[in-house]
Amino acid sequence: MREAGRIVAEVLQEMENSIKPGITTAMLDKIAEKLIRSYNAEPAFLGYHNFPASICTSINNEVVHGIPGLRRLAEGDIISIDVGVRLKGYHGDAAATFEVGEVAPQARRLIDVTRLSLQEAVEAIKAGNRLSDISHAVQAYVEKNSLSVVRNYVGHGIGEDMHEEPQVPNFGQPGRGPVLQEGIVLAIEPMVNAGSWEVKVLDDQWTVVTADGSLSAHFEHTIALGNNGPEILTSPNLV
Ligand code: MG
Repeated sequence: MREAGRIVAEVLQEMENSIKPGITTAMLDKIAEKLIRSYNAEPAFLGYHNFPASICTSINNEVVHGIPGLRRLAEGDIISIDVGVRLKGYHGDAAATFEVGEVAPQARRLIDVTRLSLQEAVEAIKAGNRLSDISHAVQAYVEKNSLSVVRNYVGHGIGEDMHEEPQVPNFGQPGRGPVLQEGIVLAIEPMVNAGSWEVKVLDDQWTVVTADGSLSAHFEHTIALGNNGPEILTSPNLV
């Protein structure tokens, strides 16, 4: 899973290097797929419930699961990119939101709070804590900053399957659910909206957008709980 995670991290780094006004999301998808396959790994999203691409590209008011296509990025956009990789039967899964050129201060703040809420979650991944301590850490941080946490989509266990038990909501009371033990691996992925937490799915049956049209950001890491605490398998330098 470390190897799969390193590829995911490299793909996100490559996405950051490639993002600029004028590039299409389909071009980003091609760059990501080529890089994944260069490691003899597979893009885990491609064909997953018939998803037609290797990455998810979600722009501005799009929350998650945007389909790459001919839309060109414009100066001032923000774009969330989600990457899943399968290598030797194991998975890595991570996401990050990037700025296209110069963005508005509110957009930058949304991105920063979302990234830091994931960091809060990582700090809650300790042996002896309970699962909902992670959820609570995200919600408390986001709401303290007057932003809202998406309820309809959640983090997850990950391993031989990309989505395994347990589900890990980004909201909830602390002190509930299973006790965290060394050896678990979770994909934690706060989705944060500038407006209300409500979302809807577009007619393409994939793209999730904010119900009120406000901006949304998404960060995700695959994190193992080892005997020295949490280990981010999808690159520490993105949090
Ligand atoms: Mg995920």
